[in-house]
Amino acid sequence: MGIVFSNLWNKLFSKAQVKISIVGLDNAGKTTILYKLLLNQVVTTTPTIGSNVETIEYKNIRFLMWDIAGQETMRPTWKTYYVDTKAVILVIDSTDNARLNVAKEEMHRMMESEQLKDACLLVFANKQDVKGAMTASQISEALSLTSLKDRQWHIQACSALTGEGLHDGLDWLVLRITGS
Ligand code: GDP
Repeated sequence: MGIVFSNLWNKLFSKAQVKISIVGLDNAGKTTILYKLLLNQVVTTTPTIGSNVETIEYKNIRFLMWDIAGQETMRPTWKTYYVDTKAVILVIDSTDNARLNVAKEEMHRMMESEQLKDACLLVFANKQDVKGAMTASQISEALSLTSLKDRQWHIQACSALTGEGLHDGLDWLVLRITGS
């Protein structure tokens, strides 16, 4: 962990509890990213298809993680999880061209929520280690990130497998949350 990163991380810890939502389609790499960040190790994960919301507490950060598609019956309850969310991390599988449009629709729907109007958005363009993966700028365009109004957002190419890009993305997020 870089010095700059850990300083920022410590800053975040010293404040009141922070809520961060990690969302994406199933198989995008949400679980792998979270465990890589928290434990700095790759863990074997089972796809979280069909599961509801997982809560992971780490020091004073509360991570809420869920799949944003295919759970129509769950959708009305998500709003209750959005309350006090400081940041949303959207994880995209950069090799999954076929479902990018689904991710786009769900993300825009989510961002329209009143409860998330002040939350910043970090998009992880994950699985960059895979040959043929879409670039962060291709994903940015496909998701129409520039059409998000009054939103602080950032897209970061990364690989949860190697860890590359994860801390850069988190640095951006922590700066937005701590405001310094
Ligand atoms: P989730 O459903 O979004 O929580 O996705 P998981 O974290 O369970 O990951 C789904 C699958 O993708 C697993 O087999 C992971 O090992 C794999 N995976 C996650 N991130 C990466 C990555 O950056 N590169 C590669 N090659 N595979 C990844």
